[in-house]
Parts: sequence; C-alpha cells; structure tokens
Amino acid sequence: MEHRYINSKKIFGFKSRSELLAHISLQKKILIAVGVEKILNRDIKLTKIINENIAYCDGVGAVMALKKKGLYSVKIPGAKFWLDLINDHYKTKTFYLIGSKEIVIKDTVNKLKKEFDGINIVNFRDGYFGDDEISLIEKDLILKKPDIVFVALGSPKQEYLMDHFIKKHPALYMGLGGSFDLYTGVAKEVPTIWKKIFKWEGIYRAFNDFRNMKRWKRQLIAFKFIYKYYFNKL
Ligand code: UDP
Repeated sequence: MEHRYINSKKIFGFKSRSELLAHISLQKKILIAVGVEKILNRDIKLTKIINENIAYCDGVGAVMALKKKGLYSVKIPGAKFWLDLINDHYKTKTFYLIGSKEIVIKDTVNKLKKEFDGINIVNFRDGYFGDDEISLIEKDLILKKPDIVFVALGSPKQEYLMDHFIKKHPALYMGLGGSFDLYTGVAKEVPTIWKKIFKWEGIYRAFNDFRNMKRWKRQLIAFKFIYKYYFNKL
C-alpha cells in the first residue's frame, strides 16, 4: 500500500473505504484518522505511533497534502468507517468499546445491538478514568481478548492509550474521537450541503459548539496548514 510522509508522518492513500477494509483485514495495529491537526502536531510520541501504525486520510486537508505529493486518496471519515468495520466483522469477531460519557457509551452499545443483531461486545466502559484504572482495563482486555477495540477519548489521549494497550493485548485498535457522540445523536452531523460546498467541517462544528475554545483553536491550526500547503512546507 502506497504512502507519503507529510510533515514527517507516514500517511497511506486508500482509493476507497473497501480498500482500507481489505488492507487492515484484522492486522494487529492501530488505525489512526489523520486531519490537519495531527499533520501539524509536533508531538514526537504521537508521530512515532502514527508511523508504526495505519494512518488514513480522515479530512480534506490530509487528502490535499497527499495529492500534492502525487498520491491519490479518498477521504475516509473515521466516524463512519468504524461502522463499516463492524458491519464486515460482527458475525465472527468480538468487540470492546472505551470512551465518551457513561450515558453515551451505554446508548452506543444498545444501538449497536439493535443495528447489528448478535454482535459480541465483550465489554465496554466510559472514557473518564484516572491513570490508576488503566491497569484494570489492561487486565480486562487480556481476559476478554477482543479482536477489535474502539477507543474514543479524543487525540492524542486515545492514541497514547491504544499504544499502551496494544503492547499488552495485541488486537486491531481504532481511535474514534467523538464518534460515539455522533452515533447516539449527542453531537450533530455536519450537513451534507456544507460538506460539499464549504468542505471545512471544523468551522461548522466550531459555530455549533461556540463556547468551546478548543474548537476555535483548531481552526487557527487550519490556517497554519493552508499557509504550509501553499508554500510547500509540509
Ligand atoms: N472523552 C473521554 N474522556 C476524556 C475526554 C474526552 O471519553 O477524558 C470523550 C468525549 O466525551 C468525547 C470524545 O472523547 O466523546 C472527544 O470528542 P472530540 O469531539 O473532542 O474529539 P475529536 O474527535 O474532535 O478529537
């Protein structure tokens, strides 16, 4: 599978969602959604995790950056792709879910059980825990041996955790950010028309979550990305 280094990060170009599905075919690796924020992130630990695993284009910025280096890729939104992954494997594989608020993770599990009849979720828990609980989760993973583990705590927290867990219990891990919130309707989807015309989904999310400074800060990162993109500094 072809890749390019963008700002020292190894990013793969997949021609379709099914190509990504076929490529992972339950490798014991971490699937990492990459957008402009991760591309510009200078955290050495995060870069190492990205380069040792499978990073794919989750946002339009990552697609553009790969294209500029001569590699075509589709945009694969992680918030949708995890459901494709479940759809492909729920009849034969086992799942473990970590992340989001307790009510959200419970709703997520109930909705998945309705949508994917017979899905085997060996355990799940919310994403609010202290460092002292990490070893308990680790033990539980070793005991329950899930094939696929979804971790939704936002970046880079979720990547650090997955990197820790995969060394204790090898499996396919996927970082999901706020995907459980989207799945259960706690967070609103960006309208299709906005996605098609403006493409810059982060701005829409920032307006919708107006008082969340983290969202606005991310948009400043997008300006930095555009500058680096046009002046070939990526
Ligand atoms: N979250 C969590 N534990 C934490 C911090 C955040 O489980 O300690 C969850 C939060 O409830 C939300 C998700 O992580 O569901 C992060 O969402 P956000 O949209 O910020 O992530 P993104 O996908 O944008 O990185």
